[in-house]
Amino acid sequence: MAKNVYKFGNGQAEGRADMRNLLGGKGANLAEMNLIGVPVPPGFTITTDVCTTYTKEGRDAVLKLINDEVKDAVAHIEELTGTKFGDKENPCLVSVRSGARASMPGMMDTILNLGLNDMAVEGMTKKTGNARFGWDSYRRFIQMYGDVVMDLKPKNKEDIDPFEEIIEAMKEEKGIEQDTEFTVDDLKVLVLRFKEAIKNETGKEFPTDPWEQLWGAITAVFDSWMNDRAILYRRLNNIPEEWGTAVNVQAMVFGNMGDNSATGVAFTRDAATGEDLFNGEYLINAQGEDVVAGIRTPQQITKEGSLRWAKLAGVSEEERASKFPSLEESMPAAYKELNETQHKLEEHYQDMQDLEFTIQEGKLWLLQTRNGKRTGAAMVKIAMDMLKEGKIDEKTAILRLEANKLDELLHPIFDTKALEQATVIAKGLPASPGAATGQVVFFADEAEKYENSILVRIETSPEDLEGMNVARGILTARGGMTSHAAVVARGMGKCCVSGTGGIKIDYKTRSFVADGKTYKEGDWISLNGSTGEVYDGKVITKNPDLSGDFGHIMDLSDKFTRMHVRTNADTPKDAQVARNFGAQGIGLCRTEHMFFEGERIKAMREMILASDEEGRRKALDKLLPYQREDFEGIFEAMAGYGVTVRLLDPPLHEFVPHQQATQKELASEMGVAIDVIRSKVAELEEFNPMLGHRGCRLGNTYPEITEMQARAIIEAALNLKAKGVDARPEIMVPLVGTIKELKLQADIINEVAEKVFEEKGARIDYKVGTMIEVPRAALTADEIADVAEFFSFGTNDLTQMTFGYSRDDAGKFLPIYIKKGILKNDPFQVLDQEGVGQLVDLATKRGRETNPKLKVGICGEHGGEPSSVEFCNGVGLDYVSCSPYRVPIARLAAAQANLKQG
Ligand code: PEP
Ligand code: MG
Repeated sequence: MAKNVYKFGNGQAEGRADMRNLLGGKGANLAEMNLIGVPVPPGFTITTDVCTTYTKEGRDAVLKLINDEVKDAVAHIEELTGTKFGDKENPCLVSVRSGARASMPGMMDTILNLGLNDMAVEGMTKKTGNARFGWDSYRRFIQMYGDVVMDLKPKNKEDIDPFEEIIEAMKEEKGIEQDTEFTVDDLKVLVLRFKEAIKNETGKEFPTDPWEQLWGAITAVFDSWMNDRAILYRRLNNIPEEWGTAVNVQAMVFGNMGDNSATGVAFTRDAATGEDLFNGEYLINAQGEDVVAGIRTPQQITKEGSLRWAKLAGVSEEERASKFPSLEESMPAAYKELNETQHKLEEHYQDMQDLEFTIQEGKLWLLQTRNGKRTGAAMVKIAMDMLKEGKIDEKTAILRLEANKLDELLHPIFDTKALEQATVIAKGLPASPGAATGQVVFFADEAEKYENSILVRIETSPEDLEGMNVARGILTARGGMTSHAAVVARGMGKCCVSGTGGIKIDYKTRSFVADGKTYKEGDWISLNGSTGEVYDGKVITKNPDLSGDFGHIMDLSDKFTRMHVRTNADTPKDAQVARNFGAQGIGLCRTEHMFFEGERIKAMREMILASDEEGRRKALDKLLPYQREDFEGIFEAMAGYGVTVRLLDPPLHEFVPHQQATQKELASEMGVAIDVIRSKVAELEEFNPMLGHRGCRLGNTYPEITEMQARAIIEAALNLKAKGVDARPEIMVPLVGTIKELKLQADIINEVAEKVFEEKGARIDYKVGTMIEVPRAALTADEIADVAEFFSFGTNDLTQMTFGYSRDDAGKFLPIYIKKGILKNDPFQVLDQEGVGQLVDLATKRGRETNPKLKVGICGEHGGEPSSVEFCNGVGLDYVSCSPYRVPIARLAAAQANLKQG
């Protein structure tokens, strides 16, 4: 029979770190910490397989399945702690937490102090001699359990938490301001009122039997795997539903047993910058989630961190030392042990760790360790530092990086000059670096209101996830560096300023006041997530500087890669940006983008509106010099590297004016009646232009267009050759479906090339190839490779045609398809390896059977998406091509793919 429950405690464990698939990250590490001698409260982990059974077979089946093992595991906790579940003398209290394979911060709910009831609270009071502590723990438990398990939550977004409402009312009655001023009798009344509220609102009694409480909590964790915010988080982070979550049940330790108790979170290195500096936050006399919840201002763990914090927060040394001392100063012995433990854990896991700890009456307990989430900049620095320190090797360093996260390093920062002019209106904590400028919104579900929005909240909660993802930046009034907003923003690589005490937010009037000025919804502000500064209005941003560690990673990527990375670029400027990012050539130059600027669009329209070949040729003659000039610029920027130029692709109606005024203008420019223009525009209209008269269908019906483009390309290359520049044109025919379509186009290109060579008395090497973006082309790739010297997979169109989803209309239903699990990802972003991928694989094989030297690449959007890049490496493509800013991501992903696939 399968084992469903794994126990740990007292330096022993049934699990291990490498069992994270079964025990979840938290459970596996709790086991491992026991094995390496780190103090961890005893407990047990229910496996992720049980969660899967729960989702499939339901509650009753699971309770039956694990009943005996859970009973035995609780007995194990009781034995190690010398307590008894529900006992009125010495009650056993536990925490219940979720723990999936991948960490999902704030996604799953935690329940503390489970096991308390009217009897056990007396036992706890007797045992600690502290009735206040006992009753406060009890009311917290009811509050958490009532929310998480019994679902007593605020009904609307403007409402406050029902339990907080009762607390506030009670404070008013008593004329007090702080929770800490409640007497034991007040707490007893609170407990009663909480229970009443639960009964009234949910119709159910609060369970007093600890076993009923435990089963309720365990199943609530399993249920939370399928709640909306967990589903959303999984979707954003590509975590499969099948993984399930484990449940960790652990003996409680208390950070709120008085002034020699504390609780905190810490990082072995700086999660924002990557600096090798132990850091974190703690609160004296506080429990579990208090630090993360951002209700009290947390204190720093190290003295150095505390001094830095005070400087940023504008707190004097006197105030810091008296009100906010570091753990190093306030509890030196516990700090020493914590510091030793953090070294031990980083050494053991060989990566930056994110720890949770509690100090109960001076004794240190670790509640969690995991590889810490970090910004893109920290990810790069930590990996490169650990490489330099000799802790990891080059391959590990490369494999450890998350390619998509490099994106954060490539994005704008504030322009220094603009920043000097900007007015600081408030200062908070630098929770997640970067720069953001946008319009204020106050509710997460309204973040989409503006193209650039800044989400301003008193504090954020996991419900705000989607809005945080949409917003450019996040500003919170409360919360420390480890508050929900800070942790989630760092994970998203999103600029965030937290704990900005100087701003006063009023949700009802949708405004906030900072530095005496009122900012309303829609007003512009700017955030600097690296310093914590908040600015009035828009502040200009500029591109970041890429050198040092980043350059080192790129060099290492090139060392381990097999595929090349090219770029999709249509202008010399984009080509240059991509060169600077290390692109080795252009994989797709969409020539149609060259037809829009200034005079060109006029000539283009003249060509389209011409009634015969002669008229078209006249207009094309005007376009030729523009095209030639553009190609010269691009070839020069990519000297020495191949440049794939695609012949005209889009349907012609995209180039003609559709509005009356512009049609009139064009008519008078061309000296024709407006009706002539109108009827031609109507003639060009298609029901489904993406499948209509476009791609090589244009070149085959109007060969003179292909002639002009081929001439412009070859002439440009020869002009550059004369100047000593090594231009390497590759002419690409789009939307080919049959060999004949390609053959006719190739014949025209070759004829024109020979003619130009003769005229100029010089030759140049060039290639003719095709896009593979019509399923028929993929299926007949063996024939097509007879003519094509290269293939480039246009996976945008190939996805469109394989699924039969219109690229322009799929936005209407894809989000719903993803939500319903019909599709795992948007196939226009992440290559559908199962379907479209088969065509890519098959066409590559068939093409190479005919022409073993066939060069094969991809130029659809997927060329810069890491999982798609990995697939391309696996099926043996020679290169991927993507937009300039994704080039570094693709370079790293290509190296990782090659290392993984060997
Ligand atoms: C493609 O179809 O994948 C492609 C790159 O071409 P376009 O997006 O221009 O149709
Ligand atoms: Mg295409």
